Amino acid sequence: MTTETLSAGPAFTELGLAEPILRAVADTGYTTPTPIQAQAIPQVLAGGDLLAAAQTGTGKTAGFTLPILHHLSTREVPAKPGRPRCLILVPTRELAAQVEESVKTYGKYLSLSSMVMFGGVNINPQFKALKSRVDILVATPGRLLDHLGQKTVDLSGVEILVLDEADRMLDMGFIRDIKKVLAVLPKQRQNLLFSATFSDEIRTLANGLLHNPKSVEVARRNTTVEVVEQSMHRVPQAHKRDLLAHLIRQNDWQQVLVFTRTKHGANKLAEKLIKDGITAAAIHGNKSQSARTKALASFKDGSVRVLVATDIAARGIDIDQLPQVVNFELPNVPEDYVHRIGRTGRAGATGSALSLVDDEEMSYLRDIEKLIKRAIVRVEVDPGFVPPAKHELMSDKRPPRQPQGRGAPRQNNGPRQGQSQGRGQSQGQGQPGSRSAAGRAPQGQGKPSAAAAKPSPKPGPQPAAHPKKPRPQAALFSSKPGSRGH
Ligand code: AMP
Repeated sequence: MTTETLSAGPAFTELGLAEPILRAVADTGYTTPTPIQAQAIPQVLAGGDLLAAAQTGTGKTAGFTLPILHHLSTREVPAKPGRPRCLILVPTRELAAQVEESVKTYGKYLSLSSMVMFGGVNINPQFKALKSRVDILVATPGRLLDHLGQKTVDLSGVEILVLDEADRMLDMGFIRDIKKVLAVLPKQRQNLLFSATFSDEIRTLANGLLHNPKSVEVARRNTTVEVVEQSMHRVPQAHKRDLLAHLIRQNDWQQVLVFTRTKHGANKLAEKLIKDGITAAAIHGNKSQSARTKALASFKDGSVRVLVATDIAARGIDIDQLPQVVNFELPNVPEDYVHRIGRTGRAGATGSALSLVDDEEMSYLRDIEKLIKRAIVRVEVDPGFVPPAKHELMSDKRPPRQPQGRGAPRQNNGPRQGQSQGRGQSQGQGQPGSRSAAGRAPQGQGKPSAAAAKPSPKPGPQPAAHPKKPRPQAALFSSKPGSRGH
């Protein structure tokens, strides 16, 4: 989204939303609807089905949440426990938590209740919550099916269905789960489908689901690319960790989101940064939900400067004004690059994305440049950067890889990560769980740089090129209490 489009359009008060909703919006400080909101809100209020092309970062969540709250609060229906009136299906638990947070924020002056439901966490509190009234249920498909199987949720009262980030849900292999859910919904309902991209699969889904939908589109696919300043350094994989620490200090980055291709790489990088005195946390599918929520909260409140994430764990991370994204490794699926850099440059702000590219990643770079139809600016590495001494790299071994159950490495343009998530995994459904992220191709892992950053107890064959700095203690990696999620 660009600033220019942001300034156009009506005020929130002109959209026909109920007063308590407008008051809640005013409390957030938003003055003008974003383009997706200006277009989608009247359409949803009119009651028909909607097909919306909008990426994360466009304000799409409020685009559907506000009119849904309006409908539910103005159409009084006797509430029944565990029988939601609106179902919002999302691909990941992070997104589920964020969407429900929006529901709570915008619905705070209404007497509607909401619940978030995802896998990878104890199901019992969800059973308990479903014994009370739930007007809006935000769920990932797998855990929802578990509840349906156990008859702890009743979807016969759903008036409005939202499929949010539908493209991602299909990429993650949720189509069968979605169809099972659709089969138990009442025929008479309003359907809203949001997707960043429109593949044939999405069109097929939309054709089967939506009746005479209005369609709204706010930005061409990959438009984020145009508002984010993108550059890259050519750097051997083995030097990347030290270079990143150098860049963070040199540029005084206070909030930087770093993408690694593997969970192991994310951990090791966070550990390395902490050893270098830079507060950091890792977020990926092997972390518990509470650890992930805590890491995200610390990153949002500024007590952690660097959040290291794998692609899927970062999906839906909603941080206003995130200024800097770093691709520690390039993704081998070019679309993932667009999703990654879309974490910055949001809501009209400018952002910057820097990629650290090893020789072996040059083919990924070419694929990405082809997709985004522009060259990523090559910038020389600061001559003041001193690469790590050879012995430090040689001591940098990673533990042997675990065999991966469905572990054929991904081909370029192949199925996206998480596709192996099938039905019936009550743990980790709809989230970057162990299977999904393990499905990533292990590129770069055999290289010295993707290895562990354990300080070597052994002296290396050569003296260090630069004296070791004292390592300040950074306690934030695992011990700082964070805010609780939903
Ligand atoms: P979304 O695309 O729903 O993930 O929203 C992207 C970001 O835009 C979120 O951080 C919202 O808080 C923010 N946002 C949503 N609506 C507005 C608005 N009307 N004005 C400014 N920021 C907004």
